[in-house]
Amino acid sequence: MTLASRRTMLATSVGGLLATAAGAQAGQAVPEPQRPGHGGTDPGPRNLMRERQNPDLLVPPATDHGTLPNLRFSFADAHVRLETGGWTRQVTARELGVSKNIAGVNMRLNAGGVRELHWHKAAEWAFMLYGSARITAIDPQGRSFVDDVGVGDLWYFPAGIPHSIQGLGPDGAEFLLVFDDGEFDEDNTFLISDWFRHTPPEVLAKNFGVPASSFGRTPEPGELYIFPAPLPGPLDQDRAQGAEPVPHGFSHRMMAQTPLRTKSGTVRITDSSVFPVSTTIAAALVEVEPGGMRELHWHPNTDEWQYYIQGQARMGVFGASGQARTFDYRAGDVGYVPFAMGHYVENTGDTTLRFLEMFKSSYYADVSLDQWMALTPPELVRAHLKLDQQVMDALRKRKEPVVPA
Ligand code: MN
Ligand code: MN
Repeated sequence: MTLASRRTMLATSVGGLLATAAGAQAGQAVPEPQRPGHGGTDPGPRNLMRERQNPDLLVPPATDHGTLPNLRFSFADAHVRLETGGWTRQVTARELGVSKNIAGVNMRLNAGGVRELHWHKAAEWAFMLYGSARITAIDPQGRSFVDDVGVGDLWYFPAGIPHSIQGLGPDGAEFLLVFDDGEFDEDNTFLISDWFRHTPPEVLAKNFGVPASSFGRTPEPGELYIFPAPLPGPLDQDRAQGAEPVPHGFSHRMMAQTPLRTKSGTVRITDSSVFPVSTTIAAALVEVEPGGMRELHWHPNTDEWQYYIQGQARMGVFGASGQARTFDYRAGDVGYVPFAMGHYVENTGDTTLRFLEMFKSSYYADVSLDQWMALTPPELVRAHLKLDQQVMDALRKRKEPVVPA
């Protein structure tokens, strides 16, 4: 066999493998890293499934240029910690290097499953994705908090405030936790059982005013963390009788807020102006209908950490000095926009796109490119961009976060 014919055979068999992989998604063309005049085919090896999910990395828009850090990490690529009462996984600065001031955790509690009584150095903000849960906490003044939360509800526990979460019936809960520290580690929190295990029984006896023989049955370290327990009784019964409630609740009904609505979507903004305890995290829940787009904008206060709840999108990020890069996202992905960088988020699917914009800030703020140009003397704008009258007339003095407006 000649070298040439061996090469032909190899090419045929590799082609056959590709055809088999492609056959699973019948009718779909194999994407190639090329556009007219640039690039070429990719003979392999290839991870076609991932390349199909990242069309704007494989074939970037011609306007992309230069180097930006990675601005996407999927929870699907994160290690899952399986526990007896549910599971958890995290996307932190360790997974998404650029994310220095926010970390996210995706957690599932089965019906009755308890996230053990604990506290941590970071503040915790949460969005309920599925089911319902009971949350408990106290504040340093000895005031108590117990509430039930359902889909679209939030909670916020300030740094150091002790709390618990328990999945309710019929099928527990799934939620997103957002922490105001990119280095946060869900595997490194202050657990009540951990402290009991590492305190001499005679000290516990003195502290609680009971015999030392009352202690010593605390489970092994790590045995609780997320563990099964009986479903709790009615909420009223769990609210400690006679205990003074915290003055500002640690929970908030985000979906009860009247959204800002445009023709192509909605925006709900929750920051400390409507949810007073949430002093370090501000959020926007954005819905974009098919064909719509979160307009070109940036944030004048801090970085943006995103969580994609539903649908699929692409985000283009502009980083000054000619740098621009486009990333693709779908449900379960985390996105990131470094401080002050311009960006848009376009719905590239055929269902409603829903995502959260999160900020380590007491307040939400954005600057609209369109509104900026509309509120600047027109001759000054025209002198920059050589725009025709049609564009100048279309500029909107009123902010329209989701377009077409
Ligand atoms: Mn916590
Ligand atoms: Mn934004």
